[in-house]
Amino acid sequence: MKREENGDIKDYLACVKSVDDNIGRVLDYLKENNLEENTIIVVTSDQGFYLGDHGFFDKRFIYEESLRMPFMVKYPGKIKAGSDNEDIITNIDFAPTLLELAGISTTQKMHVIGESARRANFSLYGYHKKTNPLLSKLNNLYAYPANSSATYTTAGVKSILDHKKSRNFYEILPNYLYRNGIDVIWRTTNWGEPNINIKNYINKQDLGKICLNKSSGYDEILLCGLKERIQNSGSNKMFIVLHTSTSHGPTYSKKYPKQFNQFLPICESVELSKCTQEELINAYDNTILYTDYILSEVIKDLSQLKGYNSTMLFVSDHGESLGEKNLYMHGFPMSIAPKEQFEIPFIVWTSNDSVILKENKSLSQYHVFHSVLDFLAIESPVYDATMSIFK
Ligand SMILES: [Zn+2]
Repeated sequence: MKREENGDIKDYLACVKSVDDNIGRVLDYLKENNLEENTIIVVTSDQGFYLGDHGFFDKRFIYEESLRMPFMVKYPGKIKAGSDNEDIITNIDFAPTLLELAGISTTQKMHVIGESARRANFSLYGYHKKTNPLLSKLNNLYAYPANSSATYTTAGVKSILDHKKSRNFYEILPNYLYRNGIDVIWRTTNWGEPNINIKNYINKQDLGKICLNKSSGYDEILLCGLKERIQNSGSNKMFIVLHTSTSHGPTYSKKYPKQFNQFLPICESVELSKCTQEELINAYDNTILYTDYILSEVIKDLSQLKGYNSTMLFVSDHGESLGEKNLYMHGFPMSIAPKEQFEIPFIVWTSNDSVILKENKSLSQYHVFHSVLDFLAIESPVYDATMSIFK
């Protein structure tokens, strides 16, 4: 080692010693003023540094020495002195960790609108085929029976966003929240939506420009970059809507990637009456299997966001006929519609064990509006506590 390099290392170590001395002064002050117990001390860095390693005296190359940094915490009562944590953390974990220690969390509501998802074909509701292998393994997941108030998309989606059944046009949930300063995101691969007057509205074409991968033709494109978008929000209340199209007929078999072709044989014709009912139901069940995957990926993303208090709701716009009474798809007048067209799933997941839900024996689409206001703690003259799913 050259002499000047040796000198640099001594200078560097002197700096480290100086930092240590001054942290000692801070600790002494806290002790003298009885502030030790309720003060969190964190010693960390923005990055590491080379001290001749690899021939460098710098930091701007990706080797272990410049990537590694210390993260030391002193917080009596919460963190045991001398304990080690081998998990890898990074700079973006600092803010959520400190917010959690301070008891402050970001609240967010994720709402997934299903398309033509009928309740009877979800194993969460007792279906004999395993169409929910992933969701059925999760904790804090609740599946409530619900009926849609219509059998076609525009009316079903409107009911999910309205605060009550009415022929009048009231301000819908995303517009109301956006106007009240909530960070609202709407991503869609579907259509038939009322006017969504928010800044962050992204349709399938726009998502396709930023999300290029092999599955981008399917509904999982809705999740592309979403976790990072949430982390960069800067708002402590968020409402995110993913409007899917997975179970929309008649081409059920075209709505999911090949690996979800698990129930066979399937109907591949657009003329549904040319397939056997078994082929038709198999193709449809594969769309529910894919929905199970998408919802579990949403929950995985939300679970990884530490310091966030999240819930996910999945409610469909209407159900679907699959050849029962020789009826196909949906759109029958509500007064004479078969139950397959209006019996829908209402699935809830919460990140927080302390969030308690009511018994909620049977729900409507209008429960969404009031549950979202309740969860985000937003006061409103139209809020009806009896319509919230939360205790
Ligand atoms: Zn629909």
